[in-house]
Amino acid sequence: MVASQGEHSLVPEIASGIQIDLAAPEAAVETLTDAARRQRFDAVLATDDATVELASRVAAEIGLPHNPPSAVRIARRKDLARQALAAARLPVPEFRRIDLEQDPRAQVAELAYPLVLKPLALSGSRGVIRVDDDGQLMAACRRIAPLITDSTDEDERRFLLAETFLPGREFALEGMLGDGSLQVLAVFDKPDPLDGPYFEETYYITPSRLPPETQESLAHQVEAACLAYGLRQGPVHAELRLVDGEVYVLEIAARTIGGDCARLLSFGAEGGLEELVLRQAMGGSHAPAGNCGASGVLMIPVPGAGVLRRVEGVLAARRVPGVEDVVIAIREGYELVPLPEGGSYLGFVFARGGTPAEVETALRRAHACLNFVLAPVWRIEAPAGAGD
Ligand code: ADP
Repeated sequence: MVASQGEHSLVPEIASGIQIDLAAPEAAVETLTDAARRQRFDAVLATDDATVELASRVAAEIGLPHNPPSAVRIARRKDLARQALAAARLPVPEFRRIDLEQDPRAQVAELAYPLVLKPLALSGSRGVIRVDDDGQLMAACRRIAPLITDSTDEDERRFLLAETFLPGREFALEGMLGDGSLQVLAVFDKPDPLDGPYFEETYYITPSRLPPETQESLAHQVEAACLAYGLRQGPVHAELRLVDGEVYVLEIAARTIGGDCARLLSFGAEGGLEELVLRQAMGGSHAPAGNCGASGVLMIPVPGAGVLRRVEGVLAARRVPGVEDVVIAIREGYELVPLPEGGSYLGFVFARGGTPAEVETALRRAHACLNFVLAPVWRIEAPAGAGD
């Protein structure tokens, strides 16, 4: 049964679906618990950041195993997550909440630049901006403010999080929690430096080329952070930075890796990540076989602002040895909005190979084949006084 905001079922051939409004979570919990009275559910699974809190609340209501809703909320809210990590004495950058109704400069006075400013509860690096001085801080606050005005939560509309910039390489970890213990499904290297001012995700390559003991400390820190948040089961996706050998958790989301990227992981006869999540939610517990070979994805960077006219070189990119697929997710005629305002991916390149280095080379070669033709956006605004 798929609950979604759409009026029509997402999978009409399987189920009629349930329509919910994610902006009205109380009503959505009621609709779904009502549905559970009519038809037995064995598990409630979230598909993304927008639904994790709702899924855990519904599971709690109908007595199914779940993460505590408070833990899921902490994972979604960057300020609460930082507080939880600091309280558990895990490494965190220095951080502060900034009240946009007061002068931001005074509020970060005791933090040293460079800083990273971010909304409390957006995702995909939207509104995440590195600032190196007071002038950039003020400009970034003005730029982020319009991105959060629609939040239904008052704190999320009024406050930002400022934290010290952590220099260092970034990694991601995909894992599965069962009774609070973490099973690592994959560790990803992110080979491009992410130094800002905006933080666009590009390459994810697994297995990681880090030494095994460093990968173990990543896993250890993720497990400790999950405990600090109160997360106990289901998929987790963590972003981490290594600074002088110390592992910092940037964030942990109580869901699987986003976009189409789950395609990177396959577990032999066990199937893919989705099968694993379903099986675990239904009470299965056996460990899957490891991910086979090396694989990677390029989340195609948005090359600029404009209307997408056409994408050239897709066939050539697909022919690069090792490349499995090139997916252009945005159709011609749609407007591309780069970070920090934009939120969607232009598309994905997937590759497989014998080693992570081969995969990285294939992805870079494929990216070099692609050329995005954009047209400028002309906005039509009614002149002042029109329509009076
Ligand atoms: P989102 O949930 O929107 O992805 P994150 O807090 O994970 O927001 O930040 C997005 C990206 O910004 C991170 O993957 C990282 O590259 C960068 N970033 C965030 N916080 C810091 C920090 N304190 N120091 C350095 N880079 C950071």
